[in-house]
Amino acid sequence: VQQFLAVNSPRLVLLAACLAAVPAFGAAEPVPVTVSIDTSGPSTRAVVTFKAPVAYRVQEDAGRVMVVCEQPLAPEIAERVLEDGIVKGFVVQGDHEIAFTTGRGYRRLESFELKNPSRLVLDFQGDRGARSVPAVVPGGGGQTIIVIDPGHGGVETGAIGPSGTKEKDVTLDLARRLKALLVKQGVTVVLTRDEDRVLPLDDRTAIANENRAELFVSIHLNASKRKSAYGAETYYLSTDATDDEARTLAALENKAYEPPGVTPPPGIAPADKSLELILWDLAQNSYLAESSRLAVSVQKELNDMTGVRDRGVRQAPFRVLMGATMPAILVEAGFISNPDEEARFKDDAYKDKVAAAIARAIAGFRRSVAALDTGPAASGAARP
Ligand SMILES: [Zn+2]
Repeated sequence: VQQFLAVNSPRLVLLAACLAAVPAFGAAEPVPVTVSIDTSGPSTRAVVTFKAPVAYRVQEDAGRVMVVCEQPLAPEIAERVLEDGIVKGFVVQGDHEIAFTTGRGYRRLESFELKNPSRLVLDFQGDRGARSVPAVVPGGGGQTIIVIDPGHGGVETGAIGPSGTKEKDVTLDLARRLKALLVKQGVTVVLTRDEDRVLPLDDRTAIANENRAELFVSIHLNASKRKSAYGAETYYLSTDATDDEARTLAALENKAYEPPGVTPPPGIAPADKSLELILWDLAQNSYLAESSRLAVSVQKELNDMTGVRDRGVRQAPFRVLMGATMPAILVEAGFISNPDEEARFKDDAYKDKVAAAIARAIAGFRRSVAALDTGPAASGAARP
């Protein structure tokens, strides 16, 4: 994966986050915090776990990445030195600040947050030189992991077709078929859900991030008020939608974000959400070019397979894609609102064809990435 082609050296990266809706700890009471660091993957990953939600910002300047918190901190360990070319260690400075010292191999920071407990994940991307360690995988080994995300689940049914077919059932069925095909390509596949249950959108992305997946593919079925609407569409992230239809679709899919029955308190939610959007957007931002190429590849295979008119690759602010720290796409495999297409998704042979088209596209995309990696990357490695 071409992670270092567009290395820019921002003097100051400011990520603002406000995890604090209602802090469980008083404003002046120190929040216990632990910092764990994993140097076994291609990047050095620091996970800062807060005992309670805190407001913080991430700041970067020469040789340092600082997490500056609004509340005072009670660190479990105040300092640590690492034998690592990307991160040399961290120190807790004063009451409010965790400072990471970056090494010569450091190139770029990716970050995202996880909840329950509140965690800030900092991925220090870079190059350790001679040391080359495959990504950590549950169960060991250096396999390539692809995360397939069957949309919706449980009481959150997604769209429902004219004869009652539920989006959540078709997406899981397609995901299982796609998994079987990708496994044949020698890929380890993780499904975000392999049963009929509710799963928040952020958790889906977190599964991909925690597994350090190479790709994230979310599968959905489209719905339109126009009963005649048909065909597949492949999306990648943008904060601006391609058009009104894409905007409406993203709003519909993003509804799944809040678990049923949970309504954010009025007045707090909008501000928090906009801040979160900035943070999450940054996580996927570095992968948009690759996400776009993957989307093009999938859309082409789906068009070839279905022979339907090209609805094209589109962009929309899908929440499930925002925090992904890898190329990430959302496939709307067809319009469940269209009676003909709904009937097709009851047909095993048709579902196999859809899965096969996506699997072919992923194989093609991975080949093109491998070709790029052995090209420029190999000559890069030969440099002193
Ligand atoms: Zn959906």
